[in-house]
Amino acid sequence: MTTQNLALDIAGHWIGGAVTTGGGTMDVVSPVDGTVVATVPRGTAADVDHAVAAARAALPHWSSTSPADRGAVLHRLAGELAARRESIARAVTAEIGAPIALSRAAHAGFPVAVTEAVASLADRINWTEEIGNSLVVREPVGVVGAITPWNFPLQQVITKIAPTLLAGNTIVLKPAETAPLTAPMLAEAAAAAGLPGGVLNIVYGVGGVVGEAITTHPGIDMVSFTGSTAVGKRIAVAASATVKRVALELGGKTANIVLPDADVDHAVAETLRYGWTNSGQACGAWTRLLVPAGRHDEIVAKLVAEAAAYTVGDPWDEGTRIGPLASQAQWERVNGYIERGVADGLDLVFGGPGRVPGFESGAFIRPTIFAGVDPRSVVAQEEIFGPVLSVIPYGSENEAVEIADGTIYGLGAAVFGERDHALAVARRLAAGQVYVNGAPFNPLAPFGGYKQSGTGREMGRAGVEEFTELKAIQL
Ligand code: NAD
Repeated sequence: MTTQNLALDIAGHWIGGAVTTGGGTMDVVSPVDGTVVATVPRGTAADVDHAVAAARAALPHWSSTSPADRGAVLHRLAGELAARRESIARAVTAEIGAPIALSRAAHAGFPVAVTEAVASLADRINWTEEIGNSLVVREPVGVVGAITPWNFPLQQVITKIAPTLLAGNTIVLKPAETAPLTAPMLAEAAAAAGLPGGVLNIVYGVGGVVGEAITTHPGIDMVSFTGSTAVGKRIAVAASATVKRVALELGGKTANIVLPDADVDHAVAETLRYGWTNSGQACGAWTRLLVPAGRHDEIVAKLVAEAAAYTVGDPWDEGTRIGPLASQAQWERVNGYIERGVADGLDLVFGGPGRVPGFESGAFIRPTIFAGVDPRSVVAQEEIFGPVLSVIPYGSENEAVEIADGTIYGLGAAVFGERDHALAVARRLAAGQVYVNGAPFNPLAPFGGYKQSGTGREMGRAGVEEFTELKAIQL
């Protein structure tokens, strides 16, 4: 396996436009071989107090700048992030083991595209509107606490902070403890883009300490959280003590419905691409493939042939499509689900439990497909967060919709079929975003979940409005 010497240590929190040192540290560990790739600060509630004070002090000035000026800062931030693309990509590969080609294209590339998209919205939001005898004004919420997961470390941060900044708020960010290494690069890029000190503050640390302190802090007006449904529920309860606005982007169990009039080869290729990219560690990963019962075996054979191209490899190798999972804890979790599927008698047609030969020392998992899956089984119901696909046969179209909607989640869905037919089915599904025939991701469209996948929306106009308060001034 390739070894890298990246000098990624983080010296301190980023508060009030300066690095603040002191306190304990914790390790960031490579999922490839368990080596320590960096040490980072382990924040405390006192560090959160300090960051909140800086964010509150910066609020009057930042919130009084014009949306056009804030959009210009974001535009420059996109450029600064683009200039740091290689360092960002290498940091993500070091901390979560994402294949380097994916890190460059997605982990480093998407945040630039999203920041640009948000910047372009500065003059497309109704910042003021006359309704009868009222002037309705959109104002910033105030200080926003942002808590993010490790699976797309910088992208998840950017989808919060870019709209938050455009809306005129200031921020206290806690990045995921297992993947914080791009956060200082963001701080540096933001300063270079002209963001005033104190507008963006970053406190590193664990969820139970720094995350809890943010969620309960009386000086924070809103919490925007992306992560698991279990932690999201806890945050919603904790934030209620100070009646904070809460936006939650939580788990998912995306179903792809293949209709009888679908291009099956296209559906199969896209299912694995959307399902297994980033080792399946994506909230919107396509993890259930719903196929007409009469075509189940034919589609499974095509899937297995396609899956052979997803070889597991060294994430630093330019040609690798699947690296390790992000951590040993993730390996235990995903392998546990694969074992559970086997124990439940599901038909294992690709992959399976256990270590990958030749890659025993890291968090490498075998991409896995179960066929003929009962939609009520654990593997088909729970979010696995790994490259594990369940193929589920259906009888009627109504049954397909019922199965697709038959989990606690409602984040994503997909439909393949003749365009108008697929669109009609897409309209019926309880999901925040539905992809028809593998259409591309759109950073200007709202992103979020129905049901236990969350509340609120990120990205697009709705994603900016999420971080605003409405004031009606009667005249
Ligand atoms: P997680 O819920 O374990 O952690 C997310 C963040 O919350 C981390 O920064 C963590 O430190 C913090 N945290 C943990 N306990 C906390 C507490 N008590 N109070 C405050 N903060 C706390 O999630 P994860 O394992 O990092 O990420 C994977 C999950 O994220 C999956 O469920 C995935 O579906 C979800 N996710 C959702 C989206 C979306 O947009 N809907 C996107 C990516 C990931």
